Amino acid sequence: MSVEMQVAVTSGQARRGRLITPHGNVETPVFMPVGTQATVKGVPQDVLEELGVEILLGNTYHLYLRPGVEQVRSLGGLHRFMAWPKPLLTDSGGFQVFSLSELRKVTEEGVTFRSHLDGSSHFLSPESSIAAQIGLGADIIMAFDECTEYPADAARVRASMEMTLRWGKRSKKYFEDHKREVPWSGSPPGAGALTLPLGLPSAYEGEAGSAGRVEAPTQAPRTQALFGIVQGGMQPGLRQESAERTVEIGFDGYAIGGLSVGEPRSLTREIVESTLEHLPKDKPHYLMGVGTPEEIAEYARLGIDMMDCVLPTRAARHGLLYTSEGKVSIKQARYAGDEGPLDPGCPCPICRRYSRAYLRHLYASNEVLAQVLNTIHNLSFYLDTMRRVRHSI
Ligand SMILES: [Zn+2]
Repeated sequence: MSVEMQVAVTSGQARRGRLITPHGNVETPVFMPVGTQATVKGVPQDVLEELGVEILLGNTYHLYLRPGVEQVRSLGGLHRFMAWPKPLLTDSGGFQVFSLSELRKVTEEGVTFRSHLDGSSHFLSPESSIAAQIGLGADIIMAFDECTEYPADAARVRASMEMTLRWGKRSKKYFEDHKREVPWSGSPPGAGALTLPLGLPSAYEGEAGSAGRVEAPTQAPRTQALFGIVQGGMQPGLRQESAERTVEIGFDGYAIGGLSVGEPRSLTREIVESTLEHLPKDKPHYLMGVGTPEEIAEYARLGIDMMDCVLPTRAARHGLLYTSEGKVSIKQARYAGDEGPLDPGCPCPICRRYSRAYLRHLYASNEVLAQVLNTIHNLSFYLDTMRRVRHSI
């Protein structure tokens, strides 16, 4: 067993549950902050834990280029390397290859691309993507797929979907043959309990068995989970076919990919809703790369269990803050003398301590702390949004 989805309550299409992984449990529906380069930009891991983050996403493309998969593997895998003992998910690298790298050449075999860092040439295929993700050692890893561009004509969407299905089969085959090679494979249950490689003061250690150690559930799963990805563009018929044939291949969970690529939101919702009908109820449902706070709440109510998005962290670095009273652009001069909290309805450490005037000053002065504080608030707002959704189910 790799991960287990326990659905506790359903309400309409929505479901509340728990995802059991080798490095701990995750309450669902969950929002997963993006830790692109083994860091959620500007936020230390202990703060993420205090905010209640239960699972982080890492980007295989970035970690593969720097510091390199072998480097991370030799340091014990991504959990140990980044001192994050809780669950992790990595993407396949495909999406970044398509969006960031130069001179891509896509063939049946895989994708040849040049690094956006130094122009060096690389090749990523279903096999090498899964090999990289096994080396990094996240709890949940993703099949290598092609994110179909939007708009695209029917023939192109069909061809792309068929290739994703063939790549999905190859991803699964490689995974089945190599899944024992994960850095923490074979450790006894509970040894996923990574001890932080830091000399923490004993008071701190005592306070949080949680900070340095994971309480592994009894009979915690001891291999990674591989999720398949449904494509099929914006055509419900192709989405259904992609879902059914992906389920036939057989994965530990199912993701809906290729959305939030420029299509109208009403269409995103329609595709999510119709695709979910064709996914097994006893497996996790993951919607990739969405959305605003309103959108993630809406998708959770449709039956999505897991979501990730760079929006809260990226917007924060640009001074755009999500609050219970709407979006705030903290750079505006109107906040220069505003002593009130950023969001009176937000219990986060930033809103409890700092004024809008101070946050505005930090941003206008281009201080590093502006990015740190803004990101902590936005993440906190997203996590609270999901907490409220969970309680409402
Ligand atoms: Zn706040």
